[in-house]
Amino acid sequence: MDFNQINESLPIQPISHAEAVKRGIDLRILRLDQTHPEISGNKWFKLKYNLLEANKAGYTQLLTFGGAYSNHIHAVAGAAQLFGFQSIGIIRGEEHRELNPTLTYAKERGMILKYVDRESYRQKTDKLFIEKLEMEFGEFYLIPEGGTNKLAIKGAAEIVDFFTEEFDYYCLPVGTGGTIAGLITGLQNQGRIIGFSALKGSFLTKEVSELMETHSTDSFINWEINNDYHFGGYAKIKPELLEFIKEMESDHGLLLDPVYTGKMLFGVIDLIKKEIIPPGTKVLAIHTGGLQGRAGFGL
Ligand SMILES: *Cc1c(COP(=O)(O)O)cnc(C)c1O
Repeated sequence: MDFNQINESLPIQPISHAEAVKRGIDLRILRLDQTHPEISGNKWFKLKYNLLEANKAGYTQLLTFGGAYSNHIHAVAGAAQLFGFQSIGIIRGEEHRELNPTLTYAKERGMILKYVDRESYRQKTDKLFIEKLEMEFGEFYLIPEGGTNKLAIKGAAEIVDFFTEEFDYYCLPVGTGGTIAGLITGLQNQGRIIGFSALKGSFLTKEVSELMETHSTDSFINWEINNDYHFGGYAKIKPELLEFIKEMESDHGLLLDPVYTGKMLFGVIDLIKKEIIPPGTKVLAIHTGGLQGRAGFGL
């Protein structure tokens, strides 16, 4: 297992967006999407210590859960093949005769796909449901939906190793909260962290606090969750979001995905416009990857 095949340095790309330039803001983006061709973005960091642990404990199979377009499913399938594990993906919803690009990729990487209805899927953390899966597939190392656990947070804390200097603000998209929890831990109170929720509602502040309490001995208050840029909810889009994504591609050569990174950067630019992120500051956005999901939106 060689996790050092990851890029030792990742590009930090300056974004000279007019709204930032006008206010003397030094805006840049860390391209975690270029981490590895098979396991992009934050998922690499979240999987790293889980795979090392699975290997050490002698597991040959990984099992995890996700939706049909899930970046996590994509990453687990890619990582499993790269490091010699069998992988099993429990997919929410019905099987479609024609597989979408995410599931096609997963299958090509050898992932066994099992489809379960929404009601069964909800039991994904129940002991009995897991035992049934063990009877069906044999022993496996279980990675939770979205991949967030203690070892994922430990891995995500290493994202800070790619920061070449200190910034005033660090911005990233948030799903289950594992990545931001790692970042909070890794930054050790330096700078201010804004997590942009990809989900509707305002429960993530509590969930991230709980993750920090459960998995970290430190407590930090230099972070917040912004719930204003979900565009209607998880994987929901609006024309202005797609327009923004296309503009970032044509004007700045930056590819974004519509589920996470597009919403986050839209939010960053809007907070800069509103001067909630103050003029004259240094801002590092984190491109967490997810570009495999663009195809599902016709991008
Ligand atoms: C999974 C994912 C996230 C969310 O990460 P969490 O650790 O679940 O908060 C953000 N961005 C991208 C591109 C992702 O694939």
